[in-house]
Amino acid sequence: MQALTNRAKEVSRKPMTLLEKLYLPAIAKGMLITFSHIFKKQPTVSYPEQKRPFSPVFRGLHVLNRDEEGRERCTACGLCAVACPAEAITMEAAERLPGEENLYREEKYAAKYEINMLRCIFCGLCEEACPKDAIYLSETFAPANFTRKGFIYGKDALLIPDAKTDPEGYAKARGIGEPTTAD
Ligand code: SF4
Ligand code: SF4
Repeated sequence: MQALTNRAKEVSRKPMTLLEKLYLPAIAKGMLITFSHIFKKQPTVSYPEQKRPFSPVFRGLHVLNRDEEGRERCTACGLCAVACPAEAITMEAAERLPGEENLYREEKYAAKYEINMLRCIFCGLCEEACPKDAIYLSETFAPANFTRKGFIYGKDALLIPDAKTDPEGYAKARGIGEPTTAD
């Protein structure tokens, strides 16, 4: 058969020596490489027990904030949704009723607030757009999920627990006290 180019090379395979056929030198060489790594500093961490320190500009999972009295800060103005380049935020506003002043800071609040984490690119523009300091991107990850629906985070997942009634949940949402590796 005629070759299309003259780049073809005939490869000659050398017959293996007896030592090579035994594979022992190759095994010993491989073990040496393995043992040489035992006492070296590990480049990996045992996630999730250990976590690397985050960069100061890391932007993670969103948190809907409360004020110092534990009231929801969000007033459902929609500025975060307008600023979001991924159109990941949806909400429904409701009027605060008499007697709910201890729950909601403003006269209008978000009865429903959802972020689609599959759309979100964690750019932080929602945080920058918010005039009420009601949303920020924390230092925690959005956990993995098996369904698309599981990535649509509602208020139950986003609203930060009240620091007074649930200090543990509050610290977890803020990413405080999570183990980090000392690099
Ligand atoms: S971080 Fe960016 S993409 Fe994600 S919800 Fe906020 S504005 Fe949208
Ligand atoms: S999070 Fe902020 S910007 Fe978004 S609706 Fe609430 S108050 Fe407005």
